[in-house]
Amino acid sequence: MLLQTISEDQLYEVLSVLKRRYEQLFLWGKYISEQQRVKEKAKKDELLRKFKLNDLGDCKRCKLCQTRKNLVFGEGNPAARLMFIGEAPGKEEDEQGKPFVGRAGVLLTKLIEGLGLKRQDIYIANIIKCRPPSNRNPELNEIQSCKPFLLQQIKIIDPKVIVLLGSCSLKSLLGEDKQISKVRGRQFSIHGRMYIPTYHPAYILRNPLIIDLVKEDFRNTMFALRKVQEC
Ligand code: SF4
Repeated sequence: MLLQTISEDQLYEVLSVLKRRYEQLFLWGKYISEQQRVKEKAKKDELLRKFKLNDLGDCKRCKLCQTRKNLVFGEGNPAARLMFIGEAPGKEEDEQGKPFVGRAGVLLTKLIEGLGLKRQDIYIANIIKCRPPSNRNPELNEIQSCKPFLLQQIKIIDPKVIVLLGSCSLKSLLGEDKQISKVRGRQFSIHGRMYIPTYHPAYILRNPLIIDLVKEDFRNTMFALRKVQEC
């Protein structure tokens, strides 16, 4: 009926108005969600800051406190949807108090940028926060002493996907005592969060031929992240 009573020009005008309204609503929606993200980031940043100051402090819960130069808390976007967890700080990390800043860190950064992301977009931490002497593997009691701190960080940040870098990270967080080569790239969904193990960047430096497998795992991580975010 309506189509019979309005001209083609009028119909075109109505459609243009509707299109403009739709675009305004779309932009408004984007603005609102951006504001929410900014608020969420500020709130989580403050929670992490207080947690670091009040709970972690100058931690002496295991013997690694005697040999560390700096405690390596973790860094990145406090409201990140994607988090990377490695094993332990190395020499450079211990010097600077930041995670993944040595050669392995440079490689990790390149892999992250290969996904079109920046380091600031994601959050990076380790299973333990102090460097084991001579970069030896962390001992079980050290992991157990430090793990509650990491769990609290994960709780605050609440990422949708966590990439577990290396077997220590895999075992500590999922209890999977398996070779990383057997489970890399698999997706473990636990309590609404996705965990994806892959090789540690330091291992890639020693075995450069596996880089393509890691790139594949990283790409699949992005697919998983988009899927989880759509839910
Ligand atoms: S490794 Fe963790 S538990 Fe041990 S002293 Fe450092 S922060 Fe504390």
